[in-house]
Formats: sequence, structure tokens, C-alpha cells
Amino acid sequence: MQLYKTQNLIVYNSLTSTKEPFQPINEGHVGMYVCGPTVYSNVHLGNCRTFMSFDMIFRYLRHLGYKVRYVRNITDAGHLEDDLDEGEDKIAKKARLEQIEPMEVVQRYTVDFHNILQKFNFLPPSIEPTATGHIIEQIEIIKDILDKGYAYEINGSVYFDVKKFNEAFEYGKLSGRKLEDMISNTRELTAQDEKKSPQDFALWKKAEPQHIMRWPSPWGDGFPGWHLECTAMSTKYLGERFDIHGGGMDLKFPHHECEIAQAEASNGQAPVKYWLHANMLTLNGKKMAKSTGNNILPDEIFSGDNTILSKAFSPSVVRFFMMQAHYTSILDLSNEALLASEKGYQRLMEAVNDLNKLNTDSTSDFDVKAWKQKCYDAMNDDFNTPILIANLFEGVKHINLIKEGKEKISSEDLRLLNESMTGFVFDVLGLENKNDSGKDMEKLTGVVDLLIKLRNEARANKDFGTSDKIRDQLAALGIQLKDSKEGTTFSMSG
Ligand code: AMP
Ligand code: ZN
Repeated sequence: MQLYKTQNLIVYNSLTSTKEPFQPINEGHVGMYVCGPTVYSNVHLGNCRTFMSFDMIFRYLRHLGYKVRYVRNITDAGHLEDDLDEGEDKIAKKARLEQIEPMEVVQRYTVDFHNILQKFNFLPPSIEPTATGHIIEQIEIIKDILDKGYAYEINGSVYFDVKKFNEAFEYGKLSGRKLEDMISNTRELTAQDEKKSPQDFALWKKAEPQHIMRWPSPWGDGFPGWHLECTAMSTKYLGERFDIHGGGMDLKFPHHECEIAQAEASNGQAPVKYWLHANMLTLNGKKMAKSTGNNILPDEIFSGDNTILSKAFSPSVVRFFMMQAHYTSILDLSNEALLASEKGYQRLMEAVNDLNKLNTDSTSDFDVKAWKQKCYDAMNDDFNTPILIANLFEGVKHINLIKEGKEKISSEDLRLLNESMTGFVFDVLGLENKNDSGKDMEKLTGVVDLLIKLRNEARANKDFGTSDKIRDQLAALGIQLKDSKEGTTFSMSG
């Protein structure tokens, strides 16, 4: 029997602001859509946190026995610099600055995105569609919305008529905003504005002659508005109504609000049963963002090549750090927090490794069944990974007591403990028991420090042949030495 039949999952639905029992539209099947990255620069750790939250959710739903179709798109067109339809297309701008094709920008950063996610041990989504691969579907939705009277065309662009929509449906239900308040809080339209109202948003934008990303449409050459691609791709692959839509909190408005409006205007029904929003990763108390430069790239953490952290941290340690916070809470990145996570991760892995070495007895002092259910209860309560981890450490405590001979465990309970521990640690949290982390990293740091010392001695003795050899051979291994007034430091690539 599938686990979901006995485990009662509850999720926090941003649409109703309450925790609700999770009951998929079609029993045993889950359709989940998550807004993917805009591929115009390297993903930073903040982006990774949101995607990791949904990777964990995907993993747990599968663990419960659901057949999940997980769609996470790639935004490769239509996302303008200003989320409110103004400025240049982010990808086109990057292409212009670097004098390369927009699709070269897309390819470069899509590859980077996949590389990073692989390092973090993400499961691939079931479908990863792109906005540019679904222009026809987007045009069809625009035609439909125009036919139904919730959009208007002007000078080759098509805008969604928010006021008209609000008369028949309700605009603002996800973000809790009222259209009247939005209207009184926004600037007046200027003469250049084509929109009837500042709340209206673009479904299709006319491409000016210099705009390189353009497609033919019934309204002339142009490109789709950012919100439309997600409506087109979620409807195509998951249907007009599906179970879960996810993304970062910052996408609630306007992006997700507009997605709801587009789908309701076109299909007449609310597209999503449960809206799940992941909270932000902050650095120095401020949101990590590409635009402000307040961010750190995953590779800078794995290599130690950054000015924020005292050392390198492995992907599994960073993943463990992320999982120690609930996905709806803000999480702040700091050196201290990562150091603490590294210790915790090592303790957990040592205990997992010890599981195969424990002696068994005829009886148990540890109620494994009750403990296992406590782990499920944590995850069933809106994927509460910090409580799950606290329970896993309760398991670690017993493993250590059994190892020291201070507690007993039966072979049947040990089998159950082993299965549950590894199930939660590897399958649900997605951690890896890799040697490149923690202790091995410390050993490597020790060895490189020793070589730096030998190189300094060689240089003091004017033995430049030896000192250069050390530097070059380390560089060939991907370890770069940097000399400064304060001394020599190193960073690693690859
Ligand atoms: P973008 O590539 O800017 O479209 O963002 C991709 C995803 O990353 C979206 O779901 C955002 O909500 C999310 N995101 C952006 N910044 C952060 C952050 N600092 N913490 C967590 N998620 C973020
Ligand atoms: Zn989206």
C-alpha cells in the first residue's frame, strides 16, 4: 500500500493562508509546476534555495508513493528588467552587452544551472520546458483572452485588462491586494503609456526594430509577456487545473497573481489547488539578488574562493544547512551557521555509517516505530525539515548509545532504523554521503597549507625552481595560490 494512504500530509496554501489537508485532484497523482530560472546569469545561492525547497517537496511526494509530474520551466525570453513590463529583456540585454546571440546567453546559463543543481544532488524535473519553445501556445492563449474580452490590442502589443477581469473574477486574491488600493497607490499613466490602466500587464509586446528576440504573431512581430509562459506551459503539461504551483515568495506578486488572472480569463476556473511559496535566503540580513550584487555563487562556496566565508563548504553541507530551516522561513547565510551545519552533517553521516556496525540483541531499548512516525509527522506538517532533522538526531543519540553498549536493539528494529534513517537522509533530504566534505576537506586544506609553507621556504632560499613547481603543479590540479601582503591563500576550482 502506498504510504500516502496512511500519512496525512498537510500543506500551507498561500491562496487561503491556511494549512490544508493535501488531497490531489486525481488520487495517487500529483501535478506540480515551479517557476524556473531566468537564464541570463549564473544562479546564486538564493535561487538554489527556492529550487531546493521544491526538490525536497518533490522527493517527499514521491517517497509517499505519489506519481508526480514535476514541471519546472526555463525562462529564456520575455522577462523584462523591471517586473512591470518596462526596460529591456534581461537576456537580450546580456546578449547586447556581450555581443553574442541571445541563445548563447541562454545556453551558457542553462548549462551552469544544470551543473550547479547536479552538484547539489537535485532530481531532474519530469519536464523542463522553455518559454521560446512555447510561443505558439502563448499566442493561442492571448487570442482566447482577447476573444473573451479581457485583453485589448494597441499598436501591436496586447495588454491584459485588469479592471475588466476584476469585474468578473477577483484580481489580487493570492497576494491579498485590492485593485482599488493598487490603483490609488500607483502613479498616473503618462502620455507615452499605451495601457488603459497601470495595473494592466503585457501579454504580447511589439518588438522595436532593434529588438533581437522576436516572433511573428497576429499583432505583428513581438515577444510574449513574462507571466504568460507559465500559464501556457503549466496548462499544456498539467491541465487547466492542477495540484501544486510553487516559486519564491517574491513571485507572488505580480507574477503569480497575473498567472491566475490569465488562466481564469482563458479557462474560467482557478488553475491551482495549492500555491506553495518558498522564503528567501538572505546575506547580511538582505535578500540575495542578482540585481543588487548581494549574493554568493554556489561554486564560490564549494571552492572557498570568496570574501564572506572562512573556508570551502561541500554541496551536501550547504544542502544540510538549507534543510535545517523550514522552507517558508527566511534563512540567513553566515560563516558560523555553515560551520555549525558542517559539524551536524558530519555527526549525522558518522551515525549513518555506524548503522551497519551495530550489534543486535533479542530486545530493544529504543522504540524505533514511534520514532519513525515522529519523523513522518514532521514531514507531514508542511514539510517541516528542521523538526525532521531534530528527530534524526534523536536517532543519532540512540545509535551512539547502542554503539557504546549502553542500549540494546533487536535485529528487526535495526533493519527498520537503517531503512528509515537512510530513507529520510538520502531520499527525502537529498543529502549525499560524500568524502569531499568535512574531514576530507580539512585534510586537503592541511596538505595545501604544508605545500605553501614548503614553497615559502624554497623562495626564502631563492630556490625558485622548486617554488614555481609547487605553484604550477597545484594549479594543474585546479588549486590556485594567491600571494598577498598578508601571506599566501588558495582557492579551488572544478
Ligand atoms: P529568477 O531567475 O530571478 O527568475 O529567480 C528564480 C527563482 O529564484 C524564483 O523562484 C525566485 O523567487 C527565487 N529567488 C530569487 N532570489 C531568491 C532568494 N534570495 N532566496 C530564495 N529564492 C530566491
Ligand atoms: Zn512563472
